[in-house]
Amino acid sequence: MLEIKNLHARIAESGVEIIRGLNLTVKAGEVAAIMGPNGSGKSTLSYILAGRPDYEVTEGEILYNGESILEMDPAERAAAGIFLAFQYPMEIPGVATMEFLKVAMNAQRKARGEEPLKIPELIKRVKEEAGLLSMDMAMLKRPLNVGFSGGEKKRAEILQMKLLQPNLCVLDETDSGLDIDALKIVSDGVNALRSPDRAIVVITHYQRLLEHIVPDSVHVLYKGQVIKSGDKSLAFELEENGYAGIIEEAA
Ligand code: ADP
Ligand code: MG
Ligand code: MG
Repeated sequence: MLEIKNLHARIAESGVEIIRGLNLTVKAGEVAAIMGPNGSGKSTLSYILAGRPDYEVTEGEILYNGESILEMDPAERAAAGIFLAFQYPMEIPGVATMEFLKVAMNAQRKARGEEPLKIPELIKRVKEEAGLLSMDMAMLKRPLNVGFSGGEKKRAEILQMKLLQPNLCVLDETDSGLDIDALKIVSDGVNALRSPDRAIVVITHYQRLLEHIVPDSVHVLYKGQVIKSGDKSLAFELEENGYAGIIEEAA
């Protein structure tokens, strides 16, 4: 579903190269974890997948279902089923969360040639999923992410993902800022999205999240490259020995 080949990318404004020859393959049905020390390029990779314009791909390829996405803008990528749950979700003053969800869901339906959802059906679906994430309706009336706690922002990201049912889900440090109970709720939400025709890329700094969302593969990112890949045991190895051993090995 996702094939990244020898990807090089830099920050457009400064020209600083952040992704330096990255290779990664994620199959449909797979949950892939990307781990790595702070500053290794994890968030940058997620932005590049989503099509954030502040970055330039200078070399290499990103294939999604066999086709390059490099020429697609963020809206086209979203319509094609790529979803990014942000490490730091943005606050959108003046746009009620419910309204945001309505616009997003209907934009997706429009891209598929479907009629917009009727309001009662929309509210029913949102309520159902919000309930599973222990979010109440009062929160949905508030502007998106404005004044939400760290945990509430992450739940709002998962809520969007559950409602939009993307094919390729990228979650950037969804565990940061979550207490144990919220971590469980959010992980359950992600696990509910596991499916043979969907790929999930979970970016995390810590092994803790991977006790709840058990990955099929683990990839260690360092200085913009995948320096080691393995199965879930690699995450335990990292927890025990830190990144130093693997970095040394790769060097
Ligand atoms: P991670 O998510 O793994 O912690 P990031 O992708 O956020 O790492 O950052 C990767 C590297 O890119 C870091 O060294 C960071 O300082 C650098 N970086 C990110 N944004 C910018 C920017 N706008 N200008 C210069 N360097 C940046
Ligand atoms: Mg970081
Ligand atoms: Mg990051």
